[in-house]
Amino acid sequence: HAVLSLEHIGLRIGGARILHDVSLEVAPGEMLGVIGPNGAGKTTLFNVISGVARPTEGRVRLDGADVTNTPIHRRAAAGLGRTFQTSSLFPALSVLENVRLAAQAHAGGAASVFRIPRRSDAATGRALECLAEVGLAERADADASGLAHGEKRKLEIAMLIAMDPKVILLDEPMAGVSSGDVPAITDVIRGLHRGGRTVLMVEHHMEVVLGLVDRVAVMHHGELLAVDTPEAVMANPTVQSAYLGEAV
Ligand code: ADP
Ligand code: MG
Ligand code: MG
Repeated sequence: HAVLSLEHIGLRIGGARILHDVSLEVAPGEMLGVIGPNGAGKTTLFNVISGVARPTEGRVRLDGADVTNTPIHRRAAAGLGRTFQTSSLFPALSVLENVRLAAQAHAGGAASVFRIPRRSDAATGRALECLAEVGLAERADADASGLAHGEKRKLEIAMLIAMDPKVILLDEPMAGVSSGDVPAITDVIRGLHRGGRTVLMVEHHMEVVLGLVDRVAVMHHGELLAVDTPEAVMANPTVQSAYLGEAV
C-alpha cells in the first residue's frame, strides 16, 4: 500500500485556486521528485502534506490513516519529516548539540539549549550516528555558526534524521548550495533513500532530480500535470508545452 496518499486535494485562499484536484500515491521507499515553474504550488503541496496548511478539499493519508486535520507535531511524531530551515539552527551550540536537541525533542525528553560538556548517553550516541550518516561526524564539536553553507545543509538533514522520519519532504535542498557542494549533498539525499525512507523532493536542479528519483510529479498552476518516470516525463508533450517560455 501507499505510505502517503493525496486524494483530490484542493486549496483556495481568498478567491485564488492554489491547488486543484491533486491525487498522488507514493510507495514505501520511493523517491519522488516534484517539479514545476515558480508559483506552481509545490511548497503549498508540502504544506498540506505536513499540516502547515489545511486543504479546502480532499484527504491526506499517512500509512493509510487520514491525517488531513492532524496537527503538525502529531504528523511529525507519526513519521513525517521536513527539513529544518537554517534559521532554526542554534548557532551558539555545537553541531553535535544541535542534533542532540532534535533527537531529544523526538524522544519527548527535556532538552538543554545551553552548551554542556559532551557526555556519553543515548541521545549523544544517536546524534553521532546521524552526523555520521551525513558525513559530518568530524565537525561534531564545531560551532554550528562556523559551518560552511553546504555543511549547514548537511546538519539540517542530520537533525531531520534524528527525528526518525518515515516520509521526508525536502523543499529545494540545493537552494543556495554552491555547485561544488552539489555532489556531496546529492549523496546525502541518496543515503536518506537507502535507509528505506520515502523521500519527496522539490528541486529545480534537473540533473539532481533525474539522478535521484524513481518518479517525477509535474505541477503547473496548482494541478498535477503528470506523474511518471523521469524519461517519460521529459518526453511528455503536455509537460514540454507547460514549460515553454518558463524557467524550471
Ligand atoms: P511553488 O513552491 O511551486 O513556487 P507556492 O506553493 O509557493 O509555489 O505558491 C503557489 C501559489 O500560491 C503562488 O501563486 C503563491 O503566490 C500562492 N500562495 C501561496 N501561499 C499563499 C498564501 N498564504 N496566500 C495567498 N497566496 C498564496
Ligand atoms: Mg527507489
Ligand atoms: Mg516553493
